Amino acid sequence: MSETVLPELPQELWRAGKLELAHGVQQFLQVMRVASAGLGQFLAEVESRGAKDLYGYGSTAAWFADVARLSRGEAGPIVKRAIALNPTRAVDGSEVPAVAPATAAVAAEGVIGEHRIEQILEILKKIPADTSVEDRESAEKILADLAREAGPRQLADAEANLLAWLDPDGNEPKDPEPKQPRREVTLERRRDGFWKLTGLLDDELGARTAAALEAYAKPRPVDEFGQADLRMKCERLGDAWAELLDLAIACPDQPGTSGYRTLVHVTIGLEELKTGIGKACLDFVGSMTAREARMAACDCLMLPVVLNAAGEPLDVGRLRRFVTPGQRRALNIRDHGCAFPGCHRRPKNCHAHHIHHWADGGPTDLRNLVLLCGFHHRLIHHGDWQVHMATDGLPEFIPPQYLDPLRRSRRNTLHRA
Ligand SMILES: [Zn+2]
Ligand SMILES: [Zn+2]
Repeated sequence: MSETVLPELPQELWRAGKLELAHGVQQFLQVMRVASAGLGQFLAEVESRGAKDLYGYGSTAAWFADVARLSRGEAGPIVKRAIALNPTRAVDGSEVPAVAPATAAVAAEGVIGEHRIEQILEILKKIPADTSVEDRESAEKILADLAREAGPRQLADAEANLLAWLDPDGNEPKDPEPKQPRREVTLERRRDGFWKLTGLLDDELGARTAAALEAYAKPRPVDEFGQADLRMKCERLGDAWAELLDLAIACPDQPGTSGYRTLVHVTIGLEELKTGIGKACLDFVGSMTAREARMAACDCLMLPVVLNAAGEPLDVGRLRRFVTPGQRRALNIRDHGCAFPGCHRRPKNCHAHHIHHWADGGPTDLRNLVLLCGFHHRLIHHGDWQVHMATDGLPEFIPPQYLDPLRRSRRNTLHRA
């Protein structure tokens, strides 16, 4: 069983941010689940030695009900689960293997709790009696692995597939009619400036969407400072959605953009763009902070329309701020992906960041450009990290003082390994 330390409650919970709250819930949930798995091992051992011999009770459940001050009805399922998940010994000393050892392993990590365990045990009961031991074992392993990521619905879907596979002539599926694709998406801007995206996708598109999003929604690995990715799943999916859009917009075949990746205009005053203080107007529908606009304009993720103090459009370095396809290729070859130390992101997921912003007179040439993934691009614009070009023409990053008091520069060596 993995070692789990009881997480600490923050001193003032009401001050905790939403990520901290979510993380706290996840941590305590895991501790509870790991503890249940441990409790189960003890109950199985009591069962093996015999509650009667040990404590004079007729059954383990009766004894546990008294110990835990539960009713027999409440204690029964807990003991049953414990015996299903853990090997026990019969009266003659011979080992009785666990019904669901793979599920037990996942439960011991604190990944699943009683509800998913019960669901798996119920599915296992439905496996036809003449199934071979190997098939039964691999079915249980499939369910346990799936339960790491999946919820009740996906397990129920897997149940149907598994049972059909184990008992192919049990219930022959009817030949389905070919279906028309059915998909609906609505997008509306709310008064608070957020957009609500809702949709209904048929099975085929839903599965493709899930696969495409999930490929980009994996948690970031723990970085060299021990910082784990605390985003919730829905937040990771949201970031993945942004990356997929960036990819689609960067595609030269994109309709109506004549090869440029920019579809959205951001209108901003020159002063605001230079200082990052104030507001910018987003495609005449909403607004964003000047800081956000400065980053979006950096790689022309959005087409910036810069205004002078009188509100007239200015032509600020219009020609030199676009990274040409040739420059971009050279940049991909030089940096091999996000240049931030320890980042794995590939070139196609990266923005070309101007080290010296074009609004401040920085040129759009290789000496002033560096590949950064969306996450690290944001960090460079909004955080305390700095990037500069070393004498050998490769980018170097200087950590903030609170991470390294000496502020020694670092490079990403992952892409070269
Ligand atoms: Zn940038
Ligand atoms: Zn990165």
